[in-house]
Amino acid sequence: MHPAQFKKLNEENILVKWDDGKEFTVPMKYLRDRCPCASCQGESVLWREYKPSPLQVLTPGKYNLKAAEVVGDYALALTWVDGHNTGLYAFDYLRRICEELASNPAAAAKPDRN
Ligand SMILES: [Zn+2]
Repeated sequence: MHPAQFKKLNEENILVKWDDGKEFTVPMKYLRDRCPCASCQGESVLWREYKPSPLQVLTPGKYNLKAAEVVGDYALALTWVDGHNTGLYAFDYLRRICEELASNPAAAAKPDRN
């Protein structure tokens, strides 16, 4: 499963088209809040669980996508306007985000968990 198209639709949304013909509109905020990188998701190291820092402030451009690049034919590397670029969205993870959003559109409107 590959994204055939991944582009900014407007200031808030990304259009993701897949090679099976399905297409989804994904808010950038939704995408960024699910950034899979360690600093966003926290890491489990041994028995201790590290939560993302509560001191993370909302930086300008946090929810504004700057660039997307295919990496190794299995993932998209997203670069955000605030400079964050360590999130690698594997295609199957990205697809799951799309499906989850499509089946529960209200999730996009949910406030941040932290
Ligand atoms: Zn991240």
